[in-house]
Amino acid sequence: MRFDVLTLFPEMIEAYLRQGILARAINKGLVNIKLVNIRDFARGRHKTTDDRPYGGGEGMIMKPGPIDRALKSVDRVEGISRVILLSPQGKQFAQPMAWDMSQWHQVILICGRYEGVDERILATHIDLELSVGDYVLTGGELGAMVVIDAVVRLIPGVLGGERSTLEDSFEEGLLKYPQYTRPRTFQGMEVPGILLSGDHEKIRVWRRRESLRRTVERRPDLLKQARLTAEDKAILAE
Ligand code: SAM
Repeated sequence: MRFDVLTLFPEMIEAYLRQGILARAINKGLVNIKLVNIRDFARGRHKTTDDRPYGGGEGMIMKPGPIDRALKSVDRVEGISRVILLSPQGKQFAQPMAWDMSQWHQVILICGRYEGVDERILATHIDLELSVGDYVLTGGELGAMVVIDAVVRLIPGVLGGERSTLEDSFEEGLLKYPQYTRPRTFQGMEVPGILLSGDHEKIRVWRRRESLRRTVERRPDLLKQARLTAEDKAILAE
């Protein structure tokens, strides 16, 4: 899988990609991430990438020319690559979309800055606008990192055989159960006894119950989409 990220601040993203699981995935060749500096495609002595809005008003708008040229510079597999603009006005990114995207071949992410990008870029190049939440960030770089991080960890081989994503929050529409590690007693609080019992079936049922409990308490909206078994329904009824 390949990501191409168009940004005015490639260093921000570079720093994130140098650490942890993402760095390992890149080094293993499981994902290829290219950063394109939009400023390299700006013209004129000052390499300007933004200008005042037509009609007046606050702030600056990203000019269409540099983004258009930056996009055309990307090595693309036609019909397979998709161009996404990070935008607070977009469809909200969530785990099912991360799974979908982990099957795609090439994702081109455009990070806006200032008051956003000239609308004609949306008309000519954008397949999808994606938001990472109902708040306004100063730029799309954090959004691009959110998308890349959430997608790359789902690519087979990235987390390694020792780690499954299937019990993570949002898989099956539930939040994950509470987790504990050593020490057994911490500031007077004990690890639930069942987790020390060695009885795998009892532990499985306890975890499922806690997962359901958490979801009911914290995110009842998720339950509408959850894939519930007959056992889950019995636990919920109880
Ligand atoms: N004026 C725009 C509006 O009100 O819709 C907001 C522009 S924002 C200050 C600058 C850039 O940050 C956007 O073009 C977008 O790329 C990025 N951005 C801000 N909030 C975002 C969010 N919630 N999700 C994804 N990208 C976001």
